[in-house]
Order: sequence, then structure tokens, then C-alpha cells
Amino acid sequence: MEVNAFAGAALDRVSWRRGDAAWLAARWADPAARALVTVGGELALDADGAPLLVAPDAVAPLEGTIAVLLGLRDDTGEPVQDDAHGTPLYAIEAAEAPAGARLGGLRDLVVLLGQREGATIAYAAAMGNWHRRHRYCANCGSATEVRDAGFQRRCPVCQAHHFPRTDPVVIMLVVDPETDRVLLGRQAAWPAGRYSCLAGFVEPGESLEEAVAREVGEESAVRVDDVVYRSSQPWPFPASLMLGFHCRYAGGEPQRRDEELQDVRWFSRADLADGTALLPPPHAIARRLIDEWLDEGDR
Ligand SMILES: [Zn+2]
Repeated sequence: MEVNAFAGAALDRVSWRRGDAAWLAARWADPAARALVTVGGELALDADGAPLLVAPDAVAPLEGTIAVLLGLRDDTGEPVQDDAHGTPLYAIEAAEAPAGARLGGLRDLVVLLGQREGATIAYAAAMGNWHRRHRYCANCGSATEVRDAGFQRRCPVCQAHHFPRTDPVVIMLVVDPETDRVLLGRQAAWPAGRYSCLAGFVEPGESLEEAVAREVGEESAVRVDDVVYRSSQPWPFPASLMLGFHCRYAGGEPQRRDEELQDVRWFSRADLADGTALLPPPHAIARRLIDEWLDEGDR
């Protein structure tokens, strides 16, 4: 199965061990343990531009956070299936870059790193983003305490439990099989000529299929049906999970309906081949959704 960028970290997350204080203390004391350092969604890099790896107690976490145990891996970066072995890997959200380190953006790094490393830094950044933004209880406003190796925040006042967020976003390629075209839109802030799939957050009280139809309608006034799931992608900017779909055009003329898009229109295979549209970068699930349609047409 093909895995999208930012997924496939190949760590054993050892989630069943997160409440075991003695086991966690032994992992913390492992001299081979290392930590990635994130600052506000960016990753600390060493002098060679590689992800900085430090001892887990070498960098102070942002106030109100701890070093999060991402999981265990062996020396080759493979996941381990035995929780007595493997090297612990932590993520520390810091207030600023450690001395001598610089910060790099995940979108730039994922182009340079392999699948596993790219996914691991995305996982670290997502955990850092959550802790940085959720130090206070959403229910009563009190400072919360970290539990479960960084996978829960507990409110000591109202006893609420808070867990790391993942916000579902639907992203979809609208296909018109009659004219063999796809519907793409562009935002004004994107590079000139860039067009991509429509996308939007899932709202409370709707299914993924309903969210796809609603977002396409809101952004383009087009109606769709036959919503088919394709693949998904963690998108830690700051906490999304992109859920990718193909869907079928069912009526309406594309038109801008809100300020979110600068343009939305149909593209033929020829338009995509001759550079009429600058497509999303290869690491984005939007590109995979488009490429899969192009590939299916070649069969
Ligand atoms: Zn509370």
C-alpha cells in the first residue's frame, strides 16, 4: 500500500505502556534515548541541516509541557515489536531553538527526508503543536497536568481529561466522467498558476460524505455524488488529518461563492499535461488524488 508523506513513521508507539511509571522511568534512563526538538511547528536542525537529536533531558520543554515519548525504534529506524528493546524517541516542544541549532519548516524538510523520517518529524510537530496550544483546560481554564507520557492532559480542578487533537479535513477531486475533466480551485496566496483540490474541515453532525458535498457546494456551487474514499494524510499544520476522496460531478456551473477561492474551474487532461495549471507538490495528498485520476485514464 502506498503511504502518503507525513505518514509511515514506523515507530512502535507502545501506547499500552504510557501509564506504567516504572517502565517509563527505565526508558527515560536509557543512554541511547534521543529527542527531536520542535518550536512552534518547526523542527530544530543540526549544522548539516538534519533533524537535531539530543538526550531527552538536554533541552528544557516549554513551560507546562514534558518530553513526549513518541515510541521505540531499532537502530535501523524499524519499529520494534518487543517493548523491552528498541531505542526510545521523544519529542520536546521548546520555547526557542537550542543553542547552535536552526529551525526548519516541515514542508521543506519532507522533500529532503525519507518516508519514515518525514513522518516522524510530522508526528513530533503535531504533539508539540497540541501541547503548546492546550496548556489550559478548555472546560474551566485552569492549568492542566501532563499524563501518559505526553498523551493526555488532566485538569486538577474540574478533572476533565484532554487528549491530543486530530481535526478531520475532507479533500476531494471532483471528476466529470462525461467531459473527462476535473474541478480545481486556487487560493490567492498560492504561487501563480497553482490549482488544487477543494478541501475543508468536517463540521460536527455530518458524515465525511456530507462534508465533501457541502464543501464542494460552498466553494464552487457544484453538486456531487458517488463520494469514494482514496487515502489519508496527517497534516500537522497544526493538527489536521486529510481524508482524500474522488467524487462525481452531478450538476451546476462552477462559480466562486466565497472569498476562500480566487478561482475555481474545470481542467482537462490536456490542461494538466501542458502546464495550464501548476499542480500541488508531490508530498501533498491533493497531488496524489490528481495523479490517480490521470493514471486511471491511461489504462
Ligand atoms: Zn478544568
